[in-house]
Amino acid sequence: MLTVILLVEVTAVVTLLATASSSFGYPLSEIGSRMAVLVIAAVLSTEASLGVERVRHRSDEAPHIDLSSVWAFAAAALLPPLAASGVVLLVYTHIYVRIWYRSEVPLHRVVFSTATVVLAVQAAAAVMGVVSDLNPFQEVTGLFSVVLAVFAYAAVNMVLVVAVIVLSGPVRNLATFLQVLGHGDEAVLEFATLSMGALVAGAMASFGIAYAILVLPPLIVLHRSVLVRQLEEAASIDGKTGLLNAAAWHVQASRELRRAERARDRAAVLVLDLDHFKLVNDRYGHLVGDVVLAAVAAAVRSEVRDEDVVGRFGGEEFVVLLRGIDGDCRLGTHAAAERIRRRVAALRVEVIGPNGPIVIDDLTVSIGGAVFPPDGLDIAPLLEIADAAMYDAKNRGRNRVRMGLPA
Ligand code: GH3
Ligand code: MG
Ligand code: MG
Repeated sequence: MLTVILLVEVTAVVTLLATASSSFGYPLSEIGSRMAVLVIAAVLSTEASLGVERVRHRSDEAPHIDLSSVWAFAAAALLPPLAASGVVLLVYTHIYVRIWYRSEVPLHRVVFSTATVVLAVQAAAAVMGVVSDLNPFQEVTGLFSVVLAVFAYAAVNMVLVVAVIVLSGPVRNLATFLQVLGHGDEAVLEFATLSMGALVAGAMASFGIAYAILVLPPLIVLHRSVLVRQLEEAASIDGKTGLLNAAAWHVQASRELRRAERARDRAAVLVLDLDHFKLVNDRYGHLVGDVVLAAVAAAVRSEVRDEDVVGRFGGEEFVVLLRGIDGDCRLGTHAAAERIRRRVAALRVEVIGPNGPIVIDDLTVSIGGAVFPPDGLDIAPLLEIADAAMYDAKNRGRNRVRMGLPA
């Protein structure tokens, strides 16, 4: 990984030096004023983004998203390579001072990020340079080169960043690589940002450099869109266990039931309640109780299929919607519930308690089940029956599975 990082940084410096000679012969005052406008606009947009970033950091350790590629790309389109890289260095120095330094991002990561942006700027500038004698913002061929430059910028940036993520991740395989790329949101945001960069450059070249300020308001709105996924997640995921919360489980489970209905498939609802969980809290404290809840949640999740819907119903109660049960659906559901019950009974949770490390290995769970369609056609009646069955399991001594209505 160190080799890759050093290679990127050295390449950034070398290409910078190699293109330095082509940077002369431009009117200095023009270059200076364009650089100044871009840097000022970038500083303003970074400052405006701080509010949104503060909200993001409150609930998440996600890396800072900055939309500075707007200005980096505009610099690549409007300035000779050396001056464009100068803009990048100034903009990233500001971001470092205002954001990364405070959130203790290590300096070597900042240097690497800046190097990738410098390389992306070089790539975009090289593509634009192919048609340098045309005004790229007037002709159709100019538009073509701008679009190509956008792709060149995005490709260089993404390949380098993804390469490092993959190399530094625990599993160095194709799956993680695809997972990183599959997070399409980032790519969409990147292209939106670069398009705005191209528009800024076009407006500055055609109408005058002051037109850059018109991009600030839409940029701030664009930045807010990165909150959407986070808010969606916060609204549907239970923070303690990572499972769906009750409301989100209800929505997804209902959807799965309708799907099962259309496919004439069978499904089942399980209600799980940990036995004597209060004792865990009383003995070791609520913090240990929380760790145990998360461990049980992970155990339940791993015992069912990916397409089954697992949620935290409240307290120490979980709900599962099982899909596509083959054969006798009551027997099949019972077997699945039994598997979960045995898994929880075999669970060993190692925690650091108030008085040192402890192992909790006497957990059990009572499970009630109801099957679709025989027990009900909707989530509500199925839950009611599964809940009654769960209480029946409790009454019969806990650590067992009961199906359907008690006799
Ligand atoms: P049983 O279900 O077997 O009858 O006994 P129980 O002790 O599990 O029963 P009850 O439903 O009365 O108590 C549930 C306990 O779960 C109460 C509370 O201390 C604990 N609990 C609920 N939510 C949480 C949570 O988020 N964290 C922790 N640590 N404990 C929780
Ligand atoms: Mg309970
Ligand atoms: Mg309980």
